[in-house]
Amino acid sequence: MHGDEAREIHTIDRLTSPSRIYEAFEAFGFGPSSLLGQNFLIDRNTQEALAASLKISEGTRVVEIGPGLGHLTRVLVEREHQTLAIEKDTRLAQTLHARLSGPDRLVVWNRDILDIGTEELQAWSGGQPVVILGNLPYYCSTRILARVFEDWLGLWDRCGFLLQEEVADRIVAGPGSKLYGRLSLLTQVFSTPVKARRLPPHLFVPAPDVNSAWCIFQRRAEIPDVSPRQVSSLSGICFGERRKTLANNLAREFGREKAQAMLEQAGIDGRLRAEQVPVDGFLKLIKTLG
Ligand code: SAM
Repeated sequence: MHGDEAREIHTIDRLTSPSRIYEAFEAFGFGPSSLLGQNFLIDRNTQEALAASLKISEGTRVVEIGPGLGHLTRVLVEREHQTLAIEKDTRLAQTLHARLSGPDRLVVWNRDILDIGTEELQAWSGGQPVVILGNLPYYCSTRILARVFEDWLGLWDRCGFLLQEEVADRIVAGPGSKLYGRLSLLTQVFSTPVKARRLPPHLFVPAPDVNSAWCIFQRRAEIPDVSPRQVSSLSGICFGERRKTLANNLAREFGREKAQAMLEQAGIDGRLRAEQVPVDGFLKLIKTLG
């Protein structure tokens, strides 16, 4: 492959079909990494629709997790958003800027998102709330969600994530559902998650084995007076053994007497299982811990 030809193939405008993606990878000399969860969303209309659904206002800075080849990134910079793209794969990160023809508004960090410090993101955001988004690598999507809520809650006001549909269903599940659990609680206490759109495997290259879903998280205007870590920790205890009653799960951690006192103070029947308790009940329980 000669220089000009290779450069042409590397340009994002051309990476619009599975055959062109694979041609480009052949020119790169490596393939998409399944270990890094690389499933590229190549449909232009879908990329535009996902970005539009976040209604990002002018001047708002955007953080993209896992830009990959840059399909979504291109839409963001074309919409004139100052964009920070954080990509773990060095081979893709190093060429991202060139693939998008070097836009000024794009900053690329070749880093693992899970290693990014809160202060670093804060410094980049300039103290204004950002939008965080991404077609997340599925192998670590729940760990990324935990960081976004537990460590970066003060930094954003809206997020949009493409997730495995099964994870999206756990996020939006309500009490009484088998899917309702730790992820539902953490995300619902601090935001209003919406499963906005379902995406079938054929929209991605390579096609994943599962359906995906685009979830939008609007940070609540009134954040309850509890910390995300308290929510994660208590829900871990309460959902520890899903088939056990709340009283038994709490007793394992706090002892029978304290567990009983907590339940009484919160006005919750200890014979219930955690999956039957609404978000509000968990907040009352956390507050009993002082
Ligand atoms: N945004 C691109 C798209 O929609 O076509 C790629 C999405 S692909 C599902 C996930 C991307 O996240 C890949 O580019 C992968 O290399 C990157 N990635 C995987 N693990 C990561 C991590 N821990 N930190 C940052 N990026 C990561």
